[in-house]
Amino acid sequence: MKVYIQTDIEGVAGFCFQENRRDPGIENVRHRYRMYKLLTDEVNAAVRAAFDEGAEVVIVNDNHGSGYNILFEELDERCRIIHGRNGSSGKWLAFLDETFDCMLQIGMHAMGATPNSIIPHSLWEVNDGAFYRSEGTMAAAVAGDLGVPSVMMAGDDKICAEFREKIPGIEQVQTKVALSCYQACSLIPKRSCKLIYEAARRGIARRKEIKPFFVPGPVRLRLWDNATHVPPLSPLGETIERPTITQAEHDYYPANKPSLPWYKGPSTDMDGFMFP
Ligand SMILES: [Zn+2]
Repeated sequence: MKVYIQTDIEGVAGFCFQENRRDPGIENVRHRYRMYKLLTDEVNAAVRAAFDEGAEVVIVNDNHGSGYNILFEELDERCRIIHGRNGSSGKWLAFLDETFDCMLQIGMHAMGATPNSIIPHSLWEVNDGAFYRSEGTMAAAVAGDLGVPSVMMAGDDKICAEFREKIPGIEQVQTKVALSCYQACSLIPKRSCKLIYEAARRGIARRKEIKPFFVPGPVRLRLWDNATHVPPLSPLGETIERPTITQAEHDYYPANKPSLPWYKGPSTDMDGFMFP
């Protein structure tokens, strides 16, 4: 059995501020390192659950910001980790293919403009507003195109609600209740890790009964966001239409490159990369 673990950091218990990668001050560096440790422990809980449930292969994708958030020196040595600049290989969910049995998602955050959610951003408008996707349910849909079910996720109460609505029966851990964009009532990390371990085991055991999340094509896709995480959002690029949601996501950034100033494109140099 092969398990893919997609990760972000905003949804981890104890996290409620976006890090500042431009501030070398010791307080900032200490705080960020502490957040990395919280993420690492939650990911480790999911990795252990996968192996205890019988996985032979576990791939972790460090998918927030710089792609250098998980302290992999501390990860269970049986897994492997994808790290470094996201998307620079040309594929968002690197290594994911139809040979995987299921996906787990740790540290997920709500889509842009969600009221009272921790650092909500990235709102994917699908089919001219027929429905919307967060990064988390977008990843679930890309996995769904490959027939891979998303069986477990963890994050704040708002992203849990979106996943529950779109993927009935998915196992969840609500790591915190978000009180605003930057304040939450969190589980204590030891508790969130314990719950993540248990939910991941349940989800993997139920992988044949939780349906892959499939979005029928053709798909019209557009990304909305802004720099402050507070509405109103603006469209980042033009709507594109492709036969599948995977193809639309894959082509979105290159197609809109001129209007996405922060996008440097696949396989380019390290210009703009902020080391953690
Ligand atoms: Zn993130």
